[in-house]
Amino acid sequence: MSSSPVEHRFGPYGGRYVPETLVPALDELEAAWVQARSDPGYERELSGLLRDYAGRPTPLYLAPRISEEVGRTVYFKREDLMHTGSHKLNNALGQCLLARRMGKKRIIAETGAGQHGVATATCCALFDLECVVYMGTEDVRRQKPNVERMELLGAKVVGVEAGARTLKEAVSEAIRDWVTNVGDSHYVIGSAVGPAPYPAIVRDLQRVLGDEARAQVIDHAGRLPDRVIACVGGGSNAIGTFCAFVADTEVEIIGVEAAGDGIDSGRHGAPLATGARGILHGSMSAVLQDEDGQILEAHSISAGLDYPGSGPQLAHLRDEGRVRFEAVTDEEAVVAFKKVCRLEGIVPALESSHAVAWLLANPGGELDVLTLSGRGDKDLAEVLSR
Ligand SMILES: *Cc1c(COP(=O)(O)O)cnc(C)c1O
Repeated sequence: MSSSPVEHRFGPYGGRYVPETLVPALDELEAAWVQARSDPGYERELSGLLRDYAGRPTPLYLAPRISEEVGRTVYFKREDLMHTGSHKLNNALGQCLLARRMGKKRIIAETGAGQHGVATATCCALFDLECVVYMGTEDVRRQKPNVERMELLGAKVVGVEAGARTLKEAVSEAIRDWVTNVGDSHYVIGSAVGPAPYPAIVRDLQRVLGDEARAQVIDHAGRLPDRVIACVGGGSNAIGTFCAFVADTEVEIIGVEAAGDGIDSGRHGAPLATGARGILHGSMSAVLQDEDGQILEAHSISAGLDYPGSGPQLAHLRDEGRVRFEAVTDEEAVVAFKKVCRLEGIVPALESSHAVAWLLANPGGELDVLTLSGRGDKDLAEVLSR
């Protein structure tokens, strides 16, 4: 990992829009991170766990029947094969190790679909840390099996009744807990969002994914891909993937957001494709908001993309013209989900299915790399009810 300073701003985005009481905690976290990432002991322990516990490196898989279907070569980066079923564990492991170094015995997390909650509860079991997970009660209802998993792993799941009772409210409640218990608690944020230094930390913990994919595609195909594609909720699997390719100017980079019922319906989760600049959960980025700056609710069939905010670095890469953002509807995502099941024998997460749907509809060059961010076991009920 690098010795460069931790970025607080990405162009105009990012920053720290938080209550005074959190500033010392964010400074402490940043100092701990700077120290950890240059400590070979931390690096060794994390990479050992990523290999032996989590299953890294994940394969880069040439998807033969999807390739045949679209008439070009498509590689899937198989984060669905990670322990706990998604890329989330890369971040949770790194942050829980960091919490242990800081002497924090209590972990706070938020979760939407439950994937980040499960990843964090898993790490807390492994490191013997107390774990409290905030989850909107609507998501508790939609994602029952993940609630049961978290409880089996020893976490306390706290239902949040406010607002739409989904991810946005869960994050707000987790931040509130952290403000109150900042002395003994670390907040493990689940995506590349939030006040500095979180977006930079989460990106650095997820970039293992993109670094592996870049080396693997060169190894398998002898060249860089024409396009790199990933779905975008808060943006952690996307920024983790894209980082490795940003300097390769010949590679086109596409982030795929949730168009929900359709962009024109207003019921979607596509702040980067459509949204204006605003502040949510401690940082400035592209957010869904009304004319008065009130944050709007997001809508997506996929709980992991059902968030009105976005990572600040992605917003900056968009403005610079380096990453393009597109959006895919619920319906298109479900069609792609079923297609990947039938053509590849892989049940993808609904989130990842958004990226696949875009790829299926948009012929491009000859070689694409797509991050399959997770597996879809959690989504069966949702898909089968359609
Ligand atoms: C949480 C999740 C996402 C969305 O989060 P990002 O931070 O945007 O990566 C995407 N895919 C899966 C499988 C997830 O669990």
